[in-house]
Amino acid sequence: MMNVMQEILRKIKEYDRIMLFRHIRPDGDCVGSTKGLKGILRCTFPDKEVLLIDHQKSAFLSFMGEDDQDVPDSVYESALGIVIDTATTDRISNKKFALCKELIKIDHHIEREPYGVLNWVEEDASSACEMIAKFFVTFQSELKIDRSAAAHIYTGMVTDSGRFRYDGVSGDTLRYAAALLDQGIDTETLYAHLYLRDFDTLKFKSYVYEQMQMTKNGVAYIFISSETQQRFGLDFEAASASVGYLDAIKGCLCWLAFIENEQDGAIRVRLRSRFAAINHIAEKYHGGGHACASGATVYSREEMDALIRDADAHIGEYKATHEGWM
Ligand code: AMP
Repeated sequence: MMNVMQEILRKIKEYDRIMLFRHIRPDGDCVGSTKGLKGILRCTFPDKEVLLIDHQKSAFLSFMGEDDQDVPDSVYESALGIVIDTATTDRISNKKFALCKELIKIDHHIEREPYGVLNWVEEDASSACEMIAKFFVTFQSELKIDRSAAAHIYTGMVTDSGRFRYDGVSGDTLRYAAALLDQGIDTETLYAHLYLRDFDTLKFKSYVYEQMQMTKNGVAYIFISSETQQRFGLDFEAASASVGYLDAIKGCLCWLAFIENEQDGAIRVRLRSRFAAINHIAEKYHGGGHACASGATVYSREEMDALIRDADAHIGEYKATHEGWM
């Protein structure tokens, strides 16, 4: 890893202009890692132009601030593009990434498409932000950071690791997080942004607990129709957050949220599990992701039922052949 990190730093030094890219449907990790690396590069190399241009927004992450304004295509053409937290090019949000002179990939998803001239992929890292923090700590004698960049990176580490709880969190994760905290992050305000909920959201949560279903072998699931989203005044992301409400049911090793997309009628699937990997099920239904957190899309209620049956059979088999699960 040291070599590729060194090569990335060398490449960054070579270019006067660096542009950062992330994935569609932005989450805390891709926003935090791009904004965080941008902050590090701005502090360290004040003479370089560092741009982050992306039109996809998440209301939930609006507290992290705005990105840069559009620039002409010619600006991209002389830039080094760094794409973070995005396994495949089809998931890169700003499609103009393709104009960049060269691309670097920094990611922690399963490697399927090494699209960069340099590809730094750590499938075991708990977040892409952890990798950016590692990059900072590794080259601490050369790189500078400020409180705001540290807070962005810390935000992604916290959100992608479920507050340092999920598998993948290591001693190093906490050591890198500590280096960020040393910059003086206001965690009380950060956690207020991340975890305070509106009254109506909690009403929606109680709806999810009322409506959730469970299969024979312990797959919990919920379907959130467009109508339900309207009834509770939810945007798509808020409705999608319902998967998290199902994460602590005893005996349910897998939990699924199906969220109808009002625009095209497709149903977004969010798959989560503990102990048993479920990404092969996501892959069967037009998706992919991590072993225990992946995403997919189904195009009918029948396909949704088929996915639930597959998950149920898989969890049934897992339970029959493993011990120690809860
Ligand atoms: P989500 O439930 O959308 O947050 O997805 C969980 C994880 O799976 C994230 O790390 C996503 O990057 C990944 N993922 C979601 N959808 C897809 C997809 N269609 N193809 C590949 N990976 C995906």
